[in-house]
Amino acid sequence: MAIENVFSWSKSRAEEFHECQRKYFYNRYASWGGWDKSAPKEARMAYVLKNLKNRWAWKGETVHHVIEDVLKALRNGQTVPLETALSRLTETMRRNYRSSKSKKNWDDPKNNLGLFEHEYEKPVSDTVWKEIHDSSAECLKNFYGSDLYEELKADDKKSWLVIEDLEEFNFNDAKIYVKLDFARRKNDKIEIFDWKTGKNDSDAAAVQIGAYVMYAMKKWNVPVENIRAFLFNLSAPKPLANEQPVSEALIRSAAEIMSGSIRDMRELLENLEKNIPKPRENFAFTKNEKLCNYCNFYKICEKYNGVIK
Ligand code: SF4
Repeated sequence: MAIENVFSWSKSRAEEFHECQRKYFYNRYASWGGWDKSAPKEARMAYVLKNLKNRWAWKGETVHHVIEDVLKALRNGQTVPLETALSRLTETMRRNYRSSKSKKNWDDPKNNLGLFEHEYEKPVSDTVWKEIHDSSAECLKNFYGSDLYEELKADDKKSWLVIEDLEEFNFNDAKIYVKLDFARRKNDKIEIFDWKTGKNDSDAAAVQIGAYVMYAMKKWNVPVENIRAFLFNLSAPKPLANEQPVSEALIRSAAEIMSGSIRDMRELLENLEKNIPKPRENFAFTKNEKLCNYCNFYKICEKYNGVIK
């Protein structure tokens, strides 16, 4: 049975749409079906390109994955020593780097990472690549050295609710996707944690936290005052859980932003029910051309006479 391209909303989708509608079109529509090697060329190219990661996203994703494994092991009663976690991180990054260098992602983009910098032959020195690895390892070490990790080891694991699960809920007749890094019950409250490997940006995090809180209220049937949310900056040598304001006002503002974003996206649909987009000419190129230098789809973008090889 063919997989349906169902309309959904997530913070990353909204950011993409806001940055460049054409980029959003390539990512959400042109790439559809491109997981199949025999898909039409544009779909295949757009699909491979959408899966590229730049080095900072790669760092964040790798650290998140290792912490996810560490917490899942802990939930099963096993403690992963720091040295083991660090070896996993290094092995994963080496494997990813090699597969990206040799362009294996063009054969199998789901199982082989492609780095944006390799695809677009950006000049990145070995020192910079090493720094990316070393700062990722630091994030992991900082996590292990944190008071929170000590607390989690001692926790009753039955109180743990989520470790990096992709969840969804309905809002304005749209599927909203959220991926909580970690959530638990503590002292009759739900606590939600968001690991950060880059800068802490509380404003940008507010819509995300708002969506998490909306999800938590529905999922665990709790009032807003029983939910706490924290940003956890792994770049800090001794990371602290930075509590974010959670209130009715936050939910109202997140809901307003989400509604507006969903409405704008739907305006570019020809068929709302089937999520069929209007012709691509309706999806505007960004006016901020600086963004094009970092865009995965640069080589197929019509603005630059992109070619489908
Ligand atoms: S290259 Fe620029 S205009 Fe083209 S999709 Fe990317 S961001 Fe948009």
